[in-house]
Amino acid sequence: MLLRILILSSTLVLLFSCAEKQTSTQADSEPKAHDYALVLHGGAGYMSPDKGAEEEQAALRSFIDSLLVNAGQSLKGGAPAIDVVCEVIRTMENHPHFNAGKGAVFAANEMNELDASIMQGSDLNAGAVAGVRTIKNPILAARAVMESSRHVMMAREGAEAFAEEQGLSMVDNSYFHTASKKERLKKAKQKEAESGAVRAMPIDEKYGTVGCVALDKKGNIVAGTSTGGLTNKKYHRIGDSPVIAAGTYADNRTCGVSCTGVGEFFIRYAVAHEVSSQLMHTERTLDQISHEIINTTLQDINADGGLIALDRFGNVSMPFNTPAMIRGYINPEEHKVAIFKE
Ligand code: ASP
Repeated sequence: MLLRILILSSTLVLLFSCAEKQTSTQADSEPKAHDYALVLHGGAGYMSPDKGAEEEQAALRSFIDSLLVNAGQSLKGGAPAIDVVCEVIRTMENHPHFNAGKGAVFAANEMNELDASIMQGSDLNAGAVAGVRTIKNPILAARAVMESSRHVMMAREGAEAFAEEQGLSMVDNSYFHTASKKERLKKAKQKEAESGAVRAMPIDEKYGTVGCVALDKKGNIVAGTSTGGLTNKKYHRIGDSPVIAAGTYADNRTCGVSCTGVGEFFIRYAVAHEVSSQLMHTERTLDQISHEIINTTLQDINADGGLIALDRFGNVSMPFNTPAMIRGYINPEEHKVAIFKE
């Protein structure tokens, strides 16, 4: 009997130690590259590297740099990705350079119509608002849709009524107006009148949509995007930015993605979800997948744009097929800001 007990207990010990070993081997084969990480973009497009623009670009770089440093500190201190992503995007929405919040481009009807979305990878919950004109920070409304409603997307006056009920800051549409974006609308209308054609996207369109993806210390990935859409858009056109799976996607098992560019293509190719899906079902890296989608699949059909993505280990990818994309990332080891192919 004693012998039996001895054999049984040593077998159990052996089994447990094997199980433990297997777990640690599995964990070792998928090392977490970084404890936390964050990547952001301020739109892909046709910014000029000319001398005249140097000052503006230096100011932009330092703005992005300080955003990254602040966000990095929050993540280092254990802040949840959802809070950090919303804070980064809210700050960019308040900056008039970007095509999001204040500084958004004008629709053909001379109004600013804003779109935003957010998704959290822990439970695939998501929220979005589309075509809103009076919500000061659309990203906060997207978050409220995700957290305080049973819906994923709300549009126009309905979304505005909801945001007001949620106690968010509401503004007159004129709050979003800037002279530079008004000038862009004027030029776009002139071009349209000259060519007689209604192009989806003027070739020299500067973008400026904003997006952010963060991985926090708990392994949660959150992605968000906010935009004014395309200059001279008509008929309450909605782009990819508020469309979950097109402009924004996050899944803790794979990655988080935020896109920028001609939204129609990003919707048709379900770009953000495509990156996540390929990461889930193939052996390829995040960077290989993202680059192929942007620089082959989309480039081959003249679909301008780029994306930012972070995988669950904190690896970053930031491909774009336009001359420029304002972008940056931070992790415990390094941080970087870039605009052109540099
Ligand atoms: N993707 C946005 C849209 O199509 C525009 C942009 O990224 O600049 O609405």
